[in-house]
Amino acid sequence: MDESIERAARAIIDSRVTLALTGAGISVESGIPDFRSKGGLWDRFDPEEYATIWAFRQDPEKVWRMLKEMEGTVDRARPNAAHTGLAELERMGLLQAVITQNVDNLHQEGGSQDVIEYHGNSRSLVCLWCHKQYDYKERKGQYPPRCECGKILKPNVVFFGEGIPVEAMTRSSQLASECDALLIIGTSAVVSPFNILPRVAKQGGAKIVEINLERTILTDHITDIFLQGKASERVSEVVSAVKQLKEAST
Ligand code: NAD
Ligand code: ZN
Repeated sequence: MDESIERAARAIIDSRVTLALTGAGISVESGIPDFRSKGGLWDRFDPEEYATIWAFRQDPEKVWRMLKEMEGTVDRARPNAAHTGLAELERMGLLQAVITQNVDNLHQEGGSQDVIEYHGNSRSLVCLWCHKQYDYKERKGQYPPRCECGKILKPNVVFFGEGIPVEAMTRSSQLASECDALLIIGTSAVVSPFNILPRVAKQGGAKIVEINLERTILTDHITDIFLQGKASERVSEVVSAVKQLKEAST
């Protein structure tokens, strides 16, 4: 067993409260590009231009041209071994919650029960005028989708310039301050205020395990165990190591 993988597995087994913080990188192998990949959606649609609440309020039809493409990508995506591996840890009683920045619903589809969506979920739509909410299936194929009041609906995701849902923020901060082990997977950790959660956990004494293709701003400052590589591979290795160590101890 690789020494770093074994240390990560032991940190999870020895912990009372373990959390996973995930970002766009965990869904890249499911076919959803992150903000940085070349040739992806974000090369054609600059998030600074398209993913702000001001852009949406000013020209929702323009923003829906980007969302239409993104919706096709999310529709085709299926959870990968990183999503299902986290769900397995939860079923074993070794992971208390996933806090995700993703809006793709893949943690839930992968079997995770307790998922805190920091940036909302693209599978639901909301009217900014009358606040009525819809499941995206009720308006599928309509571009742009409209509320029964006639206004253009917004996906229930947090655009740049909008606040984080209060309950998600409060519960995430609480859990981060209580956890003994934190798995940070596939996030560049630059988007605020999500990026305070690793610091809150570290200050509370948590062991920080980071999985990423490349080093991030966290790696040298906060991370205790850095597992470089693809999320699906590293998470699967950690889950296998946890099982082996648990079996060996019984
Ligand atoms: P980011 O694009 O800034 O960073 C992604 C990180 O994942 C990078 O550090 C990259 O090295 C890493 N990565 C890429 N492929 C990987 C793989 N296969 N295995 C492991 N690591 C991998 O993403 P972010 O930090 O999540 O922040 C961007 C914002 O964009 C967030 O607010 C998020 O809500 C949003 N976003 C969401 C989705 C989605 O829902 N799937 C997709 C794109 C962007
Ligand atoms: Zn309405």
